[in-house]
Amino acid sequence: MGNIAAIVGRPNVGKSTLFNRLTETRTAIVNEESGVTRDRLYGKCIWNGLEFSVVDTGGYAVGSDDIFEEEIRKQVLIAIEEADIILFMLDVTTGITDYDEMVADILRRSKKQVIMVVNKVDNTDRLTEASYFYSLGLDEMFPISSINGGGTGELLDRLVELF
Ligand code: GDP
Ligand code: MG
Repeated sequence: MGNIAAIVGRPNVGKSTLFNRLTETRTAIVNEESGVTRDRLYGKCIWNGLEFSVVDTGGYAVGSDDIFEEEIRKQVLIAIEEADIILFMLDVTTGITDYDEMVADILRRSKKQVIMVVNKVDNTDRLTEASYFYSLGLDEMFPISSINGGGTGELLDRLVELF
């Protein structure tokens, strides 16, 4: 099966932007197993000579808030099943939302290796705010900017160390 890192988090935090940055060979494989997996994208990343798979989750149906929450939950549960490492993505510009709390709860109980990835830290002024996310009760946090690539090298170093 190989090493798999799945990117989870609520919509608009920047999961797909990170996925596109990490994966050079973008293989839009659609997992046909069940309806909920139709929007998962699988790609490959090579860092320091180590190859691993990255999963982008999302593409949620637009609907009521309940459906929305349920979709996020499902994607997180699938990620826990299939991935070795979960990249829990958060958005420094919005701070912690109720959806983030919900995802954090599931991940804490999962006992999986989880790395919080606080995105949109486009400049160093936002580093202090990024550290607030430790209050979600997870141990590891990397501040990054998926748009300009800041911090992604450190994140990748840590990822390949864990695989
Ligand atoms: P997803 O729904 O989690 O997959 O999020 P997307 O990757 O589609 O990004 C949502 C929005 O956030 C888009 O407008 C992105 O351009 C923007 N975005 C993503 N990463 C960054 C970042 O590092 N900094 C800033 N300022 N915006 C970002
Ligand atoms: Mg997306």
